[in-house]
Amino acid sequence: MTRTVTLSDGTVLPALGMGTWNMGGIQGEQMDRERESLGYGLKAGLSVVDTAEMYGHGRSESLVGEVLHYNKADRFVVTKVLPENASFERMEAACTTSLRRLGLRCVDLYLLHWRGTVPLRETVEAFRRLREKGLIKRWGVSNFDVDDLMELERYIRPGECAVNQILYNLEHRGVEYDLLDAGRFRNIVTMAYSPLGQGMALLQHPALQKIAARHTTSAGPATPAQIALAWVLRQRNILAIPKASSLAHLKANIAAQEINLTQDDLAELDAAFPPPVRKMPLDMI
Ligand code: NDP
Repeated sequence: MTRTVTLSDGTVLPALGMGTWNMGGIQGEQMDRERESLGYGLKAGLSVVDTAEMYGHGRSESLVGEVLHYNKADRFVVTKVLPENASFERMEAACTTSLRRLGLRCVDLYLLHWRGTVPLRETVEAFRRLREKGLIKRWGVSNFDVDDLMELERYIRPGECAVNQILYNLEHRGVEYDLLDAGRFRNIVTMAYSPLGQGMALLQHPALQKIAARHTTSAGPATPAQIALAWVLRQRNILAIPKASSLAHLKANIAAQEINLTQDDLAELDAAFPPPVRKMPLDMI
């Protein structure tokens, strides 16, 4: 069954979306593969596409715009404003530039990429003005820890901040100590970025290989990446956005939703990647 999350305004989204960092940078066959992967994902119902003005200085947004132009499937487009553009004066120009690249009149979700020097209260006012002007449907934040959410709460109405996008995977479990619950408590959906550990050391871990050997999906024998993704996706209120430039990876990620980890699997993962026992500073990439 396709897992979903529900935003504070009642919008229901698939819990598996698509990241696009580093996409759109290399012309030719690589970009063809990226177009193919994103297009396939949209058709398969992965409507949430995550990008940012920062990614490739706009090249990721342009690629997403191109894919959306040729694909009429449901879409829910997320992009992010850089901290230096998150002021009352600069945010509208940054947003309209992103919209032009994306070929959209309105973005579904606009996130503050991380906190900078612009006061949070001012960023909130800037988001509100874009919403009033119809340039964004809703807004959220990224790389916010519990104290940041508590400060934000002082300036907003309940439910106004839709999402907090944070680093979350088996290697980075610190957020389980308090931040995941802080989001649930405030009706803020957590978007888990880099759920596959950027495809690096995590996927070589023997524990993941051992557990993968015990599972299969409709796409074939399970892989360590699918186990890592299934582990993130098993949790309520979390939307994961792995990046897959290749169709094979994208299909594997879709099939990972079929995997139900057993209590034994979860215990083995806890032993290999221990959960936090105290407050940890929020990791970010
Ligand atoms: P991920 O954890 O999603 O890993 C991506 C890597 O994993 C790529 O090399 C990809 O290969 C590989 N991969 C994907 N699927 C599979 C699979 N089934 N089997 C094996 N390997 C696989 O890392 P990202 O850092 O890209 O994070 C995901 C997204 O989160 C980003 O693209 C971006 O949209 C967002 N993000 C947000 C941040 C923020 O500050 N808000 C920071 C970092 C990321 P290939 O591409 O070749 O298919």
